Order: sequence, then C-alpha cells, then structure tokens
Amino acid sequence: MKVAAMFADGSAGTVDRPDPQPIDDFVLVKIHSVPMCTEYKGFKNERDLDAVGFGHEAAGEVVELAQPGHVKVGDRVVVQPQLGCGRCWLCLDGEHIHCQNGRRLPEGQTAGQTYAQYILKPDWLLSPFPEDISYDHASMACCGLGPTFGAMQKMNVNALDTVMITGLGPVGLGGVVNAHYRGARVIAVESQPFRAKLALELGATAVFDPTNEHIQDQIMDLTGGLGVDKAMDCSGASAAHRLMVESLRRKGQACFIGQGGDFPLGASRDMISKGIGLHGIWHYNLSHFPALIKVIGQVEGQLDKFITHRFGMSRVEEAWKQQSTGDAGKVVLDPWA
Ligand SMILES: [Zn+2]
Ligand SMILES: [Zn+2]
Repeated sequence: MKVAAMFADGSAGTVDRPDPQPIDDFVLVKIHSVPMCTEYKGFKNERDLDAVGFGHEAAGEVVELAQPGHVKVGDRVVVQPQLGCGRCWLCLDGEHIHCQNGRRLPEGQTAGQTYAQYILKPDWLLSPFPEDISYDHASMACCGLGPTFGAMQKMNVNALDTVMITGLGPVGLGGVVNAHYRGARVIAVESQPFRAKLALELGATAVFDPTNEHIQDQIMDLTGGLGVDKAMDCSGASAAHRLMVESLRRKGQACFIGQGGDFPLGASRDMISKGIGLHGIWHYNLSHFPALIKVIGQVEGQLDKFITHRFGMSRVEEAWKQQSTGDAGKVVLDPWA
C-alpha cells in the first residue's frame, strides 16, 4: 500500500509499505477520506525530517476481519483516533481518548496511521455511518467537528448562548459549524483573513482580530457588558486562553481544546469571584457519535464550505504547502489518487 512520507530534502510524497493483515479484534479498513490535521507543522518547521506515518483522522470501509466483531465487511466507518485498552472504566464509559493504559498495534504491524491506503483498528473504535453520508463528510466526525462537538455537549451549548471561539483553524471552524447548528450566537476570534471570512460564511455573527488592542471592549460591547456565556479555545495560544477567561461572564464555562503551554490563572480573581467552570476537551464521548453523525447529515452544505481543498495523497506536498499558507479550512486527502 501507499503511505505518505516526508523526505530529508524537504519534499514529501508516498512510499510503499506491506499491506497490513487483520489480527484478533484489529480490523482492516480501506481508507477513502483522510482529513489533514496539524501534521503540516512538522512539514513546515522540520524540513530535514525523514519520516513516514502521519495522521489520526479517516473514514473508510471495512474490508477484512480476523474474527467476528462489532463491524462487518462492507461497513462504512469513521476511524476513531488513538488506541484505548478497551477494558478500563474510561474505555467502557466512551472516553477511550483518556485511557491510561493505551494499547499497541499487534506485533510486527505498523499500519496505525491514516495518511495511508489501509489502517488496522480495533473493531470497537470503528463507528459505522449510513449510506447517504459521503466519506468526506463522515470523516468530519474526527477533528473537524469532533472536539468542538465534545465541548458543545459538555457545556450544553444551545440557542440561548453567546459562544466565543478563539483560533479558527480546522478545529475552530468546525466549532462555528457546531455552534451555529445549535442556534447559538457565535463570536469568533482570528487574525488570518481567509479563515475570518470563512467563519462568517459558516455562521459566525462577528469575527474579531486578536491583534486589535480593543478586542476585549468589542466583546463586552456585543454582550451588553456581561461577557460571553460559553467559550472554547482552539488555538492553544496563551494570549487566547487569557482572552477566553477575561471574556467569560460570571458563572460562564469554557473549554480548552487547542493544545498549548502554561498560562497564568488566578484562583480568586478568575475562578472564585466569577464562579466560572473550565474543562479540558480532547475528543467526544463515543456514545455521542450517533448524535454527531445526525448533525453531519443536516449540515452537508456547511461541510462543503468547511472542506476547502481536496488532494490526491500523491500530492501531499502540495496539500501541506496549502495548509501552511493558512488559506485553508479543512483539507482532505484521497489515498487512492
Ligand atoms: Zn482503557
Ligand atoms: Zn486531528
């Protein structure tokens, strides 16, 4: 099979690897759609890297099983990220993403990443979806819509809320789709013009530039001086974390989604006097997958705007370069082209 690779001369392309074989509960999935996440940062910043194996988002088709399981040959499935142990309380509770035990691929197998034509995955981490949803749209149940959907569920975002989303990369833009679907008013924060414009097309009421020194006043003006009801950061930037906490109304809630470093938080000033709730969100509870796929079936027009580029995997270098410009929403690879 073909898998994507970065080469030491700074270029990228594909290399051949043996086709993986199903074993135990590890099912063989033929990948049809590969949403690109933040792998481009490695391509952009570590150009001397010789590396194979990227990606954690995919939708595909079950083609072979070693034993009967939760899926059958021909099922169209979303490939869930990471490998949970499948036995601990977190895995049993739908929170495999937080599993402390983890699990390895079977001995001798390397097919665990999604920039590839095939992947091996335990059957219970494959989520079947209906025929009338395309692979590209279903694959948005990974990072495209997934983490912000988890945040929406956690904070019960609804039509009474004003929600602020900082960082409109391929995760934050999905947050705009999710919040708009629920009828919430969306305030987005992003400096990159392409993404700011796309956020407005996806339903954001206002997009503010974080480099504007008056951004805090702009947010307060739009919320009657109270602050936003709920917020989520998809940038991972400390300045955005600060803005998120400052912009929350009293008793408001916020989710950290973008991976980042430390930022100062005052127990009295930020937490106790305002009575706010802060959550860390990586993905969504697997028991909420049926709800998420229902959303996907109802926002297909939005998803066609959100997915701004499609490339064959043989053109992965071009795809990474496109992502590196910032002029992109979600970019999807076809591993067979
Ligand atoms: Zn576990
Ligand atoms: Zn991702």
